[in-house]
Amino acid sequence: MTKVIDVELRGIMKKFQNNVVVQDFNLQVEQGEFISFLGPSGCGKTTTLNMIAGFLDPDGGDLLIKGQRMNGVPPYKRELGMVFQTYSLFPHMTVAENIAYGLKLRKIGKAEMQERVKRVLELVKLPNVADRYPKQLSGGQRQRIAIARALVIEPSLLLLDEPLSNLDAKLREELRDELKRLHQEIGVTTIFVTHDQEEALSLSDRIVVLNHGFVEQIGTPLEIYNQPASEFVHTFIGKTNRMEGEVIGVEGERLTLRTKEGMTIHAGKQERPLAHGQKVVVFVRPEKILLTDTAGSGINQVEGQLQLASFLGSYTECEVRTGGHTLSVKVQMSDRSAEREPGTQVFCQWNPEDVLVMPAERG
Ligand code: ATP
Repeated sequence: MTKVIDVELRGIMKKFQNNVVVQDFNLQVEQGEFISFLGPSGCGKTTTLNMIAGFLDPDGGDLLIKGQRMNGVPPYKRELGMVFQTYSLFPHMTVAENIAYGLKLRKIGKAEMQERVKRVLELVKLPNVADRYPKQLSGGQRQRIAIARALVIEPSLLLLDEPLSNLDAKLREELRDELKRLHQEIGVTTIFVTHDQEEALSLSDRIVVLNHGFVEQIGTPLEIYNQPASEFVHTFIGKTNRMEGEVIGVEGERLTLRTKEGMTIHAGKQERPLAHGQKVVVFVRPEKILLTDTAGSGINQVEGQLQLASFLGSYTECEVRTGGHTLSVKVQMSDRSAEREPGTQVFCQWNPEDVLVMPAERG
């Protein structure tokens, strides 16, 4: 089956005065895809979204929507639905009037308008609030209405700019699941801007990781998590233990490394080949380290002292001082380490396959 490309960015560049904030952005968004732009504050996520929406024009490159070049085309001619971080509902209009606004502009007849407003309110699971005013709704409900308002025009593309970031943690998770359900149900091509890696990982078909206006990597959540293209991607996507060192042995695909602090680490196959003597950065994720009370057999095992244990509900985050390093270890609740006292002697162990090694110069 041939892929239908809904949005295409070809070498997009944007600058404000002389400051280039988006550079050489290339992306093809397939029909029905859920794409996230993920990156720290100021990396160019919103600027890129605003170019796709038509609020800003690129200073270089081409933007295509459904195969049509869109540079210079105003937002209202792009048939897009958009939801912003802050609630952008009109305060003097009821929920139904807010939702119907876009339909009125499009001169949709009254009967159809009422039907579509009703349908979209059911879709966001708020069928009984049509006559309320925005101030009579909770923050989460308001964002659902904003989403309903964006969807009612049956947009070819849905653009979401951090729509969950003003909500408290629990609501945020609820609405995140809701967004996922909605996308599965209606399949509208969606671009979602966030600086929250969990949101991006859980919602997206593919993630675009941005850093200082550059695309660092485009990939599925699993690719981004397991095969990061750069140190930036790996460290931005979740907590990790970082150690600097050198390759002291290469045997087939296996590597032996020594950290600056003198710890020996064995690593499995890496994306990029590494040579004997090469300076490297070594990463092990906290959830990949096993904490035990007694020494077992096998490699990558170090003895240490538990320094800190922070109980976080479904898991406990531990800090272990070992071999010149302080390792962060994530322990599941089923493990009794949650009860260990600081100062306890422990053993840390991890698989060579869970060790990520990158050339130091890339960092
Ligand atoms: P955040 O998560 O904080 O919204 P972001 O990744 O969306 O960040 P942008 O809002 O796209 O980042 O901003 C990218 C860069 O462009 C920032 O350095 C910002 O200061 C700058 N910038 C954005 N809009 C303008 C503007 N209108 N004039 C000048 N500089 C701007």
